[in-house]
Amino acid sequence: MKKHWKILLHICVFILLTLLTQIGGVVYLMSFVFCSRIKYAFPLKGLAAFVIIYCLGTFITTPLLAKLFNRERIVHYHNLQPANYLTVLLNRNYVRPEVNAYLKSVSEELGNNNKALVMRYLDANFPLIDGFPLLPHLSHNDGKKLDISLVYENSDGKIVNCSKSISGYGIFEEPQKGELNQNKVCQAAGFSYYDMPKYLTFGSINEDLHFSEKGNRELMRALIHPEVVEKVFIEPHLKERLRLKHNKIRFHGCHSVRHDDHIHVQIK
Ligand SMILES: [Zn+2]
Repeated sequence: MKKHWKILLHICVFILLTLLTQIGGVVYLMSFVFCSRIKYAFPLKGLAAFVIIYCLGTFITTPLLAKLFNRERIVHYHNLQPANYLTVLLNRNYVRPEVNAYLKSVSEELGNNNKALVMRYLDANFPLIDGFPLLPHLSHNDGKKLDISLVYENSDGKIVNCSKSISGYGIFEEPQKGELNQNKVCQAAGFSYYDMPKYLTFGSINEDLHFSEKGNRELMRALIHPEVVEKVFIEPHLKERLRLKHNKIRFHGCHSVRHDDHIHVQIK
């Protein structure tokens, strides 16, 4: 019985690591093989083997394998950075080459308009296999999707390139008086999971920061400008507040989750 529980635990760890990082489950299995080949016993041998193989996989093997699936890591610029470096460590930063070309053009346009603004990306796609979803975003499965953090400013009105939660998700810019409350509409229609990202913050930070209208308007205008964009999702009240009229900015539907904590971009 004890052995069965052990196997079950290994299966759970395998599934969890695969869902979180895509390669983690396979690395977990490889670390057992690696440990069995090394005769020397030392404390945390299994963990050390996992960390070494995982790092080699993340930074060397996986970027090469990803090319077979027409994907590459998001290229960083001075004004295009991950909101949280864990996105990179967990292999959630892969896109198709055309998305990188698009991001380069957005970065150049942003750089011309506002030197202080840094576009900070959140979850993109996994490196391998079309159709493999990057949970909890079911649609991030083809290398064409990317989430981007909202822009915040401090009490002096200065743009600060920080998030309001550890994960970058789940702290909402709520509707103001007179604005459409899409969350209420969706909840009333029975879509109770519409505000699910509130459970994904992993803790709120930088509570003194507030939504930057100027920064978010500039970011949205740069994002929708290039021809290759298929659609951009942001919560309807923010579209209204930022006075954005472009037809590529759409409402994602109540079956999705609210987008007043991040912007979702997808490429054609
Ligand atoms: Zn998304």
